[in-house]
Amino acid sequence: MTNVPEIFGSMVFNDAMMKERLPEEIYRSLHKTIETQTDLDITVANAVAAAMKDWAVEKGATHFTHWFQPMTGRTAEKHDSFISPQPDGRAIMEFSGKELIKGEPDASSFPSGGLRATFEARGYTAWDPTSYAFVKDGVLCIPTAFCSYGGEALDKKTPLLRSMEEINTQALRILRLFGNKDVKHVWTTVGAEQEYFLVDRKLYDQRKDLIFCGRTLFGAPAPKGQEMDDHYFGAIKPRISAFMKELNEELWKLGVYARTEHNEAAPAQHELAPIFTTTNLATDQNQVMMEIMKNVARKHGLVCLLHEKPFAGVNGSGKHNNWSISTDTGVNLLEPGKSPYENAQFLLFLAAMIKGIDEYQEMMRVCVASAGNDHRLGAAEAPPAIVSVFVGDDLAEVLDCIEKGTSYDASGAGRMEIGVSVLPAIPKDSTDRNRTSPFAFTGNKFEYRSVGSSQSIAGANTVINTIMAEELGQFADELEKAGKDDFNKALDELIKRTIKEHKRILFNGDGYSEVWEEEAKRRGLANLRTTVDALPAFLMEKNIKLFTSHNIYTETEMRSRYSILLDTYNKIINIEAHTMIDMTRKEILPAVSRYVGQLFEVLNGKLAASEKINAKISHNMEEETAVSLSGLCDKALTELVRLETLIAKTDYKDDLDRGTYYRDIVIPAMNELRATCDAMEMLTARDMWPFPQYGDMLFNI
Ligand code: ADP
Ligand code: MG
Repeated sequence: MTNVPEIFGSMVFNDAMMKERLPEEIYRSLHKTIETQTDLDITVANAVAAAMKDWAVEKGATHFTHWFQPMTGRTAEKHDSFISPQPDGRAIMEFSGKELIKGEPDASSFPSGGLRATFEARGYTAWDPTSYAFVKDGVLCIPTAFCSYGGEALDKKTPLLRSMEEINTQALRILRLFGNKDVKHVWTTVGAEQEYFLVDRKLYDQRKDLIFCGRTLFGAPAPKGQEMDDHYFGAIKPRISAFMKELNEELWKLGVYARTEHNEAAPAQHELAPIFTTTNLATDQNQVMMEIMKNVARKHGLVCLLHEKPFAGVNGSGKHNNWSISTDTGVNLLEPGKSPYENAQFLLFLAAMIKGIDEYQEMMRVCVASAGNDHRLGAAEAPPAIVSVFVGDDLAEVLDCIEKGTSYDASGAGRMEIGVSVLPAIPKDSTDRNRTSPFAFTGNKFEYRSVGSSQSIAGANTVINTIMAEELGQFADELEKAGKDDFNKALDELIKRTIKEHKRILFNGDGYSEVWEEEAKRRGLANLRTTVDALPAFLMEKNIKLFTSHNIYTETEMRSRYSILLDTYNKIINIEAHTMIDMTRKEILPAVSRYVGQLFEVLNGKLAASEKINAKISHNMEEETAVSLSGLCDKALTELVRLETLIAKTDYKDDLDRGTYYRDIVIPAMNELRATCDAMEMLTARDMWPFPQYGDMLFNI
């Protein structure tokens, strides 16, 4: 039996460890620096570094790294050893405060979107003391922010930290208006449920599309898919179970509260849900989680696929980003309260979120846009590309009554008055949890379900935090003006007006239906179907104003991100097209041609035999199959050559022009080629097909 409390966090230099290992004075000044967000004093840094190093060496570390999250959405690390040579030929382990606080990785290989001219290619990393250092694979990992020399953020952590600061400032203004003097800090919390696929490594290694693109580019459907619904919550198979056990232990050691694990809707698909924590930590932990999943899978002869759509015709993977906002006194501000006072405050936060999502719906779509996620959003298996908010029937009725000033229940208990009436108890999950909604209120938090399984959650949470900070700021402006005596009246008016003006974003129905698409259009909601549709919205004037006014991104930082996202999209489609060409030309066509040759051999044998014995021998199967396959081979070749010609184009006006061309011309050409190859797969003998098929990969474990 694993002793969970003993191993939990054993590889993390967490608060308990700091308290134990640091001189009291140092520990206190470190805390103070974190709270006041000031620079770390070098003597404190030296002491922390020394204690950290001693602890890490005990855990088997020989190296340290500034662990950061470049704009690729992955994590990066460059290892330096602690070893310091001594004049007498010996070596000691050393780690200074300077090395802890600041690092200078060679930044030139990370995307900067034009932020960093090559002559100043060196960016620097700075310790983020709000996230704990940890030991992974013999390396002390120090979570850091990554900036250019000009101070521009080159990573995903810096804007996220800025957004957390901003929502703290604005939320505190609101709490003060409600007379709350105790709360010192407000932060947002996140629990990101991670979906993933596991496939046998031996099969994976035989598929270039999985190796190069993380998803299958070919594959006829298996005779059985997910239609029997027998995978979800089904018994976990022993091999998977062994993987999950080790995964949990590894994550626990790193202080990740991995909690639930179960199979998902699709065969070979699984989910891991952590217990929520502050958004910054949750983001770090999700990055670690993805990495550990991949490593542990390898040890078990498996490969973990984090792509949003590894298999066509089978559910894809997402990441449900559960988001809430709470105080340092332990109050969840999205928890409906029991008193009129708590209710009013809850309704204000709820209204702010509704208004924010409505006003910045395009930005919500931008922050989940990627080539991989395009396969999910809008494909009737994940939330639609249209952003809307689900609040459930009960809460919808409450909001309706507030807007109309009518009474909530039939007993006519009086009209719903903010700050005076008691909110009717809203049972958690009283309505069928609407799985089709992108942004759903689930009792005491919002669940943003559009995030892709391979994406960093930093982007989505930076956006949600900032939107919320903006709306809370606007509300605070208005309420502060109203003054103490008119507070309730002003509050009532504000909430009423907000619901009236933004209720178009509320939708409790079936998000997959065509009716909703039409309805959303009538309501004037955006429907940004693809990454190429979505990304330009990043640079809408209102979005630039939003982020620059809250100091989350400078306009330059926004433009750089826009250009990286677009460039990444283009690169992915380009690699996928090349991989298809390679696999078709070098594997599929030769294999099918060999099979056709075999069929003709049999056919000739049969013809010769029937002549010899002067009797008719049936050869329909060989002839028909060979003829069909030859025809399909020729068709595939034509489509392949066309695809080659299409991607040879180089004269694009800009990256958006290129992306549009990929989306409108190249992707349809890829789909045609795939359809032809899949048709050949259906006709070809199993042992002649050049790589593992869907049935093998999805059902063999
Ligand atoms: P389920 O969705 O299966 O009913 P829960 O509602 O308990 O399960 O939680 C789902 C996810 O939401 C978990 O990862 C959990 O940690 C996270 N979560 C729960 N409460 C909060 C919160 N206040 N803030 C952020 N995430 C939360
Ligand atoms: Mg969920």
